[in-house]
Amino acid sequence: MPRRLPDILPIEWPENAPAPPSATDAAIDRAIALIRSGGLVAIPTETVYGLATDALDSESVDRIFRAKGRPATNPLIVHVADQAMARSLAANWPPTAEAIASHFWPGPVTVVVPKHRDVPDIVTAGGSTVALRCPAHRLTRRLIERSGYPLAAPSANRSEALSPTRAAHVLESLGDRVDLILDGGPCPHGIESTVVDCTTSPPRILRPGPIGRAALEAVIGGLVAVESVDSAPASTEPARTPGSHARHYAPRTPLELAADAPTQVAELLRKGKRIGWLTLRPTDPAVRRLAGSHDLVVVPMPDDPTAFAAAIYATLHALDQRDLDRIICDMPPATEPWHALHDRLSRAAASG
Ligand code: AMP
Ligand code: MG
Repeated sequence: MPRRLPDILPIEWPENAPAPPSATDAAIDRAIALIRSGGLVAIPTETVYGLATDALDSESVDRIFRAKGRPATNPLIVHVADQAMARSLAANWPPTAEAIASHFWPGPVTVVVPKHRDVPDIVTAGGSTVALRCPAHRLTRRLIERSGYPLAAPSANRSEALSPTRAAHVLESLGDRVDLILDGGPCPHGIESTVVDCTTSPPRILRPGPIGRAALEAVIGGLVAVESVDSAPASTEPARTPGSHARHYAPRTPLELAADAPTQVAELLRKGKRIGWLTLRPTDPAVRRLAGSHDLVVVPMPDDPTAFAAAIYATLHALDQRDLDRIICDMPPATEPWHALHDRLSRAAASG
């Protein structure tokens, strides 16, 4: 029998109010009670929605893996209220972690550090390191502070599917597998955090994200290495960088990155295919020429990487509802600010 759908509780905290409204604290307390009894709660963050539970309770964490269908080899990020909580979960706190956390937290960058023995093996996929992040979303920080629980929280979607940037996306993907959804509105960054391995010298970016390499190097005062997108192993091989499977973050509709999108779109339309086209150049005459076709949905995308990131998953979620044969996306510029988006889009485009 299908499980009852979860409640979705709107949680608000007006910008100028020092404390949240009492209804918001009541919703947070309900989330804490659920987590205390081993439940799973979807939480808003500034990157994407997370599927959260007490990181120090292996049985609860096991429920996250089962709900997502996530391979046990893919470790989880633990969300903390501040640097002190992060340090309590680390066996030691490397100077690079200190520099990154002091400068960017709360914010969308995760540090990988040697794990404290109290962190259960299931969280780190059996590894000796743990990934830690202090999220900027102040409602989620309040949840962590009020409960005292560090929260293990991967993105709140089925494994390999699109990440959720709205409460409705969580309901769609995990509706019968989550106990409560805290709805904090759309996620402002819209893509997953930058992950930096601070156990190596130089530190390595394992997953590009909203905080870019140049910003990290400025703060660390030295070079940062980057794991290349192309080096990601195929999904059948054991993960070298855990979780970095080639196919990830993918819509159900096959997606293609196109260097010459107008030609590609025209050809597919000739074959009678139904196409969604994410274009960075909506005023291009080639786009205008094709835009009248019944079989084509043109979605103008922002040509600014920050705004593109905030919109991309919601756009792909929406196109996935349209029964299309293919999604074509204009190849974004090959410049540093687009690096994280190249990573996500090429993983979304990787077949099988
Ligand atoms: P998600 O929370 O679904 O965005 O995925 C978290 C990602 O963080 C994983 O896929 C890994 O790439 C990375 N990660 C988490 N823990 C570790 C770790 N101990 N070492 C390296 N990467 C990690
Ligand atoms: Mg994920």
